[in-house]
Amino acid sequence: MKQLSRRSFLASSVKAVLFGAYAVKGSAFAQSTSWSNWSGGQTCQPAGRYDIGSEEELTSLLRNTLGPIRPIGSGHSFSPLVPTDGHLVVIDQLSGILDSDPDTMQVTLGAGSRLGDLGPQLDAIGQGMINLPDIDRQTVAGAIATGTHGTGVTLQALSSFITSLRLVTSTGSVMDIDATDGDLFHAARVNVGALGIVTQVKMQNREAYKLKKREWAAPTEDILANFDELAASHRHFEIFPLVYSDYSLVLSIDETDEPIGQIDLQPEPSDDASIAESLGLTSNPTPAERRRISNATASRIQATEAVDVSYKLLSNVRNSRFNEMEYSVPAEVGAECLREILRTIYEQEIDVLFPLEYRYVSGDDNWLSMSYGDHPHATISIHRTASEDYRPYFDIIEPIFWKYGGRPHWGKVHSLTHRELTQLYPHFKDFMEIRRSLDPQGRMLNPHLRALFNG
Ligand SMILES: Cc1cc2nc3c(=O)[nH]c(=O)nc-3n(C[C@H](O)[C@H](O)[C@H](O)COP(=O)(O)OP(=O)(O)OC[C@H]3O[C@@H](n4cnc5c(N)ncnc54)[C@H](O)[C@@H]3O)c2cc1C
Repeated sequence: MKQLSRRSFLASSVKAVLFGAYAVKGSAFAQSTSWSNWSGGQTCQPAGRYDIGSEEELTSLLRNTLGPIRPIGSGHSFSPLVPTDGHLVVIDQLSGILDSDPDTMQVTLGAGSRLGDLGPQLDAIGQGMINLPDIDRQTVAGAIATGTHGTGVTLQALSSFITSLRLVTSTGSVMDIDATDGDLFHAARVNVGALGIVTQVKMQNREAYKLKKREWAAPTEDILANFDELAASHRHFEIFPLVYSDYSLVLSIDETDEPIGQIDLQPEPSDDASIAESLGLTSNPTPAERRRISNATASRIQATEAVDVSYKLLSNVRNSRFNEMEYSVPAEVGAECLREILRTIYEQEIDVLFPLEYRYVSGDDNWLSMSYGDHPHATISIHRTASEDYRPYFDIIEPIFWKYGGRPHWGKVHSLTHRELTQLYPHFKDFMEIRRSLDPQGRMLNPHLRALFNG
């Protein structure tokens, strides 16, 4: 049987050509176009798209136009945050490091910067980002808008590294917001793209560092029994529980001074069909057959190790397109919630092979953060290959998240409405008030956001 590494299940690349060739550098001229997100699950036919060349251009545009607008990043959200029949606003040209301070380890960045592009630029000035999500193709503005997070029980979501940000409101007012602004700051760091257009941010980094990544497979119950200790003893620790299996793929990442060393990557099956082939699954196996084959395969997975600069190891490349649902639950009920999801997939014979993802994130004070609060949260993700209808699978699993008090990731699929969200986020109504005061006409709302915020 073929040897598998953890990456064989998971790695894939994100080379989304999201917009074709219609961007006009340096011009905010509105072009008519169509838009699709990374997975293809969200599309729209906006009236036009403004490619913003400067902050002045943006303020002038907002002061001199009317009608709905939606800022877009790199289109890596699965939920309908962007679709509009109004105008899209693209700030790709507002990118890169604008200023840096070697004493505080802070940089001012154009908010259209891609996380992945920042790695080498920060490294060149001796800095590294404190954490990164699973991929690094997102823009800074897009990542903070949805509360994007990485892994690490002591590490907060990316928004918490933002010490100030510049927001251009729907009427063209420019606001520089930091901790001295109190509530506004707590609202603006996870803003769902509903408060205005973020043009630049100041980000807290640390000195550049190297990491050692270890990947192996282990029985899920053995890991869950010690998850808190394992999460506390590694800078990053997470598992990818294999469905129809007693095993998980396990990942730990820690700081190191060891020399850089690369692993040999094998061919990378990463959608359901290629995972099935790797597992040697025949057509229509029973759940018990799947479990037997998956266990046998997982027990053969060899541990791999790699040492590299932080930004090269924290994020991955995802080749196969998928749709995703992710909820956070309080860490103390995380394992129970995960077990119920795995059991449900098995018992209901849901035809999926994508592993789940289970990680801890530190609590924070950003009002709409899925990890808002002073305790760690477990985040649990389920995935479905983009070519398949994700609804039936996600519809079965989503109520399990609700049962454990789950809060949805804003950038991922969920079906919660205004009513439930006000219960789950203690400051949801406060956020709505700030949103209304900054955008009384609701220019920044699309149908999805209007429903969420009762706008
Ligand atoms: C393969 C894959 C892996 C992922 N892994 C993770 C992960 O590990 N952890 C995690 O938490 N999430 C993860 N995500 C989700 C992703 O990080 C978020 O959905 C993120 O918001 C996408 O950023 P983007 O730049 O593509 O923004 P978009 O998806 O384009 O937009 C997201 C939101 O940001 C708003 N926005 C964009 N630009 C601005 C601006 N200038 N001002 C104000 N608002 C703006 C938009 O209006 C929208 O509401 C993953 C997604 C994919 C596809």
